[in-house]
Amino acid sequence: MRRKLVVGNWKMNMTRAEAAACVETFVEQVSAGQECDVAICPPFLAISVVHDLLKKTQIKTGAQDVFWAEKGAFTGSVSASMLADAGVSFCIVGHSETRGRFGKLEVPAETTGYFAETDLTVNLKTKALLERGISPILCVGETLSEREGLQTDNVIQAQLKAGLDGIDGAEFAEGVIAYEPVWAIGTGMTCDSPEASRVCGMIRATLAEIWDEDAASRVRILYGGSVKGANAHELFAQPDIDGGLVGGASLVADEFHRIVAAAK
Ligand code: PEP
Repeated sequence: MRRKLVVGNWKMNMTRAEAAACVETFVEQVSAGQECDVAICPPFLAISVVHDLLKKTQIKTGAQDVFWAEKGAFTGSVSASMLADAGVSFCIVGHSETRGRFGKLEVPAETTGYFAETDLTVNLKTKALLERGISPILCVGETLSEREGLQTDNVIQAQLKAGLDGIDGAEFAEGVIAYEPVWAIGTGMTCDSPEASRVCGMIRATLAEIWDEDAASRVRILYGGSVKGANAHELFAQPDIDGGLVGGASLVADEFHRIVAAAK
């Protein structure tokens, strides 16, 4: 039986002092009983302050990105071994913001998005994380025009096959897939719960095709896209949704606590 998992993605928010205040409040709220797994992914600079506060709890520290090389001349990058050294247990890869499919700055069209994430780099990052014992949270999802063009399943299957290329099911047993429809991220537009569950079921069937049913049944598949206290219960009650990847609502301790409580 898969345990539910709720992950907060703070994106580029929170100074270290704000991070500490938010985590302290949240930890007090959940200490009464936490019946699901929880992780918080702060910006790199707040990882150590967050991890110090979470060390004595069951809540895990996550990261929002990683570079695949071990070390070297990669200015501005952070490796999987550096994340492991900082106590990171989970790391997001292939988020639509890093894939450059959403939230682009006003940059010339010929640039490839400011983080230039591709299926290949998602795959390299996933492998680097697994080598260091960090659970990847591999994000997949369609844009609005892909959904309207009835391409949702094709797009996601292609992202999964490329992102997991050369990785076997046993290696990915602690890994996580997050279904994040691009049009639902930060927009307040949530995917209908039965449709979100259908897509998560399709993702599991694709994992079974890539590996086998047993390996596919171990992987947690989360929904992300405008999850809030008000809709979390309905989403998490769906048979194929194992929890949530939460952006904006994870920045407010009370709201994140409501979401975690809905995952019991
Ligand atoms: C996210 O950043 O992964 C996300 C789902 O954001 P939000 O919850 O704000 O839509």
